[in-house]
Amino acid sequence: MTEPLLKLVVVGHVDHGKSTLVGRLLHDTGSLADGRIEELRAASAQRKVAFEWSFALDAMQAERDQAVTIETTRVWLRLPGRDTLLIDAPGHREFLAKMITGAAVADAALLIVDVMEGIQDQTLRHAHLLALLGIAQIVVAVNKMDLAGFDETRFKQRRDEVTASLKKIGLAPVAIVPVAARDGDNLVQSSPRMSWYKRLPLTAVIAALPVAAAPVDQPLRFPIQDVYRIDQRRLYVGRIESGRLKLGDEILFSPSNKLAQVRSIEIGAANLTEATAGRSIGITLDRPLFVERGELISHVKNPPLLNQRFSATMIWLGNQKLSLGENYRMQLGTMETAATVESVNRIVDTGIPTSGTGATLERDAIGDVTLHSSRLLALDDSSRLPRSARFVLRHRNEVVAGGLVRLAGIPDLRPITAATALAPVAHRVTRELRAQRFGHRGGVLWFTGLSGAGKSTLAMAVEEHLFRKGYAVYVLDGDNVRGGLNSDLSFSAKDRAENVRRVGELAALFADAGFICITAFISPYMADRARARAAAGAAFHEIYISADLATCERRDTKGLYRKARSGELREFTGISSEYEPPDAPDLAIDTQNQPVEACAELIVGYIESNFAARDLGR
Ligand code: GDP
Repeated sequence: MTEPLLKLVVVGHVDHGKSTLVGRLLHDTGSLADGRIEELRAASAQRKVAFEWSFALDAMQAERDQAVTIETTRVWLRLPGRDTLLIDAPGHREFLAKMITGAAVADAALLIVDVMEGIQDQTLRHAHLLALLGIAQIVVAVNKMDLAGFDETRFKQRRDEVTASLKKIGLAPVAIVPVAARDGDNLVQSSPRMSWYKRLPLTAVIAALPVAAAPVDQPLRFPIQDVYRIDQRRLYVGRIESGRLKLGDEILFSPSNKLAQVRSIEIGAANLTEATAGRSIGITLDRPLFVERGELISHVKNPPLLNQRFSATMIWLGNQKLSLGENYRMQLGTMETAATVESVNRIVDTGIPTSGTGATLERDAIGDVTLHSSRLLALDDSSRLPRSARFVLRHRNEVVAGGLVRLAGIPDLRPITAATALAPVAHRVTRELRAQRFGHRGGVLWFTGLSGAGKSTLAMAVEEHLFRKGYAVYVLDGDNVRGGLNSDLSFSAKDRAENVRRVGELAALFADAGFICITAFISPYMADRARARAAAGAAFHEIYISADLATCERRDTKGLYRKARSGELREFTGISSEYEPPDAPDLAIDTQNQPVEACAELIVGYIESNFAARDLGR
């Protein structure tokens, strides 16, 4: 019996020898038609160009292009006992889209590194992509060993460097093989020119790679691809991504939250009593249900989480940088919906230089982001069910990002949905209409800083200025909110975080209503402020109102520092509890060396230039 098919994606920096290696592999494993190479050699001689092994691949591609268009080159490699599908990735955008939407999920990757050049930016990009996609089995071919005189020391240097670079990304290669692709050294046969290398040649390493079994023992996830009506019956079809489904099972549809029982499981004309992960099936139910493509079927136990907002680790692939608040098309499983990126919470250091500012993602950057979709989604965390947690974003039909859903800290709205049939309704009055009415956009100006730094004073001054100029503006101030909305909260760490959370949500509603909402809260913790940013998305601006502790304490407008020093007030920010200043505030105002009026003018100027309605519709 042959081993299950291995899907191997081939990646590497341009010119490091990817095509040469694949061409030569095809030849050396007898995967090409007889005489093909001789033909290509003759054709090259005739055209007076040096023969390249990559021609074999080009020729294959050209032959097939006449019949079908394929974006990713797929090549069959015959290895002893193991058929291997090589997936060449000409553009990593297409590759990513395919991997994520399930068309070509690879089991392993072959990473090619030129011994003379070592790891390059593109190599790193590919490696990050592999890590993001959870492809942990990586074989490295250190190529062009002939140029390094087949020298063991040179190889070892590269090997150690590659190992260290991959380790930083969280990847550990299965094997690192020195090869000379052009001449076939260490591809199928061990090379006599590198007799110091005692391990297996490349194809033997590949042939021994394990193929992950379908995730049958995980919770059931069965995304609906289509609903067919046949006579009086409705057939719900799709592929089981994980788990198993049995006849008579009680199943749950998400996000619609509907229940039904499985009456039949069908593949073509055959009826099954059970189907497991990896199979494409159709099912019928014991009752008529109106659910559409995009719904996710699970068991009642272990369902996906429901929310419109979630976190993700995402790689940005668009030529234009990520635009916060922009509508992108998201594909998650079979669900397609509009989604916006509300905030970039952290940028991962990829080792690749980008000109990112921290507030957005430039091409090839990877970051943790908060997304918001136009409808409720069925979500799974990538650490638990990676297959169901992959998504892509498209803009004008181009793939611009791919990512993995992260659910830490994301509440499940299912209980509320179930109890109240909560279904967010879209406003007919749009943000644009509101902005036209008010003459400016809505937004949150989140003032943060020590007690006594001048937040409330400035907030009220700015409010007055703006109001006189005709702005719809309102200040949410710490003490005021504590007296009403948040009167149930204490000053414990947990309640403080809740205080800030509620204000963040409330401010976001004001902004949505078209108001400039200024909040004046110490909000000492970055995480709490990040959550407030997530609530308001692109409309959120963090304003750091700064003065050093000594100045604030000298001012002591409310007499709180004195109480804190005497121990009367505990956990007072700046004295007995920490203040985390913003890393990259949208605006920083130094109140120590400038009078209040000058500071207020700076903020008013900032608001005028950032929220003017004149650039509406951009
Ligand atoms: P790709 O862009 O990664 O597909 O790289 P190619 O396969 O087109 O190879 C780039 C160049 O490197 C070509 O000129 C190849 O002939 C050359 N090359 C590939 N493998 C080797 C090798 O093992 N030794 C030497 N000396 N050159 C190689």
